[in-house]
Amino acid sequence: MESAFNPSIKQLSFTELEAFLRQQREGGFRARQIWHWLYEKWACDFEEMRNLPAALRQVLQEHFSAFSLKPIDRQKATDGTLKWLCQLSDGLSLETVLIPSGRRNTVCISTQVGCQVRCVFCASGKKGLKRNLLSSEIVDQVLLACRHLQEKVSNVVVMGMGEPLHNLENLLPALELLSSAEAFGLGARSITISTSGIVPGIRSLAELERPWNLAISLHACSDQQRSQIIPDAYRYPIKEILVACQYHRERCKRMPTLEYALLQGFNDSDQDAARLAKIAKRLHAKINLIPCNPGPSKYQAPAIKHCQHFQELLEQAGAKATLRSRRGDSIMAACGQLQERHQE
Ligand code: SAH
Ligand code: SF4
Repeated sequence: MESAFNPSIKQLSFTELEAFLRQQREGGFRARQIWHWLYEKWACDFEEMRNLPAALRQVLQEHFSAFSLKPIDRQKATDGTLKWLCQLSDGLSLETVLIPSGRRNTVCISTQVGCQVRCVFCASGKKGLKRNLLSSEIVDQVLLACRHLQEKVSNVVVMGMGEPLHNLENLLPALELLSSAEAFGLGARSITISTSGIVPGIRSLAELERPWNLAISLHACSDQQRSQIIPDAYRYPIKEILVACQYHRERCKRMPTLEYALLQGFNDSDQDAARLAKIAKRLHAKINLIPCNPGPSKYQAPAIKHCQHFQELLEQAGAKATLRSRRGDSIMAACGQLQERHQE
């Protein structure tokens, strides 16, 4: 019998899977068949793998689990955004969001349960870090969305719960699998990693020279202002973040994004817009404005007209800026909020 406590088969590399199959006296071609079921057919049970002999399916079931997530809640917003709450084998839970938009299907994945950065406006960071997700748990979120759509997603954004650069150990193998032509086969340019600005992590990513996109959650243009929303423990000076970001752009040849949560009365003045435009232009970065989602803090989003005014100021100053519509508001799409409600 498969047990939820068996290790995930997706923790194995292709070579490790081949070695396991050799031990079981199975032909080398079986690894390719299994890989196909896992990453191209999004199978979540070994029983689905119909071209494998029943005895092998049984052996796999005794040693591994095929899928690490158990969906326990799902909500759909009027704009089609879909959000899952999934339980992990140890009873903790994570959130995954699917955002359909025209011909694009973007899945937003989590990398940790909780987060130790603890930005004041973010539900994920409210209770600190519970644990890092395994690479199989990261990959399975993407496969869950594909299985639902019965189609391969076109984009992956690492913008769910957690600070991705605090879990590079598991994120990197997951992204390699997702980008690998032999496994999931998603173009590296279709992957975006969002970070609160963990400088050593940005440098490590840069050195890999993969064309994954980088998004920096800046939210404020001075360290003093930023310190009011991001606690000191894991906050780096803006100057160092920008140098690391520049290094990443040079090595990976991708234009960075600056994320800026608009918090009414805190970072939405005309002067804030001027300072943000200056930083973005110097960095050759585009800006993504996110009106604050109601969360654990006192902050609120400015009125939509004011958000548009802020965007216009940026553009007049020569910066490129998009204003994110508050997708999935009706299901509380800000990260960590669905999980929080379940715990209450
Ligand atoms: N930890 C990473 C990625 C996950 S959060 C990071 O911080 O970048 C993804 C984005 O959502 C970040 O820009 C984050 O600051 C933002 N965010 C979190 N809570 C929010 C809220 N209540 N309103 C608006 N943006 C929020
Ligand atoms: Fe962590 Fe990002 Fe939330 Fe900050 S915004 S607490 S870094 S998940």
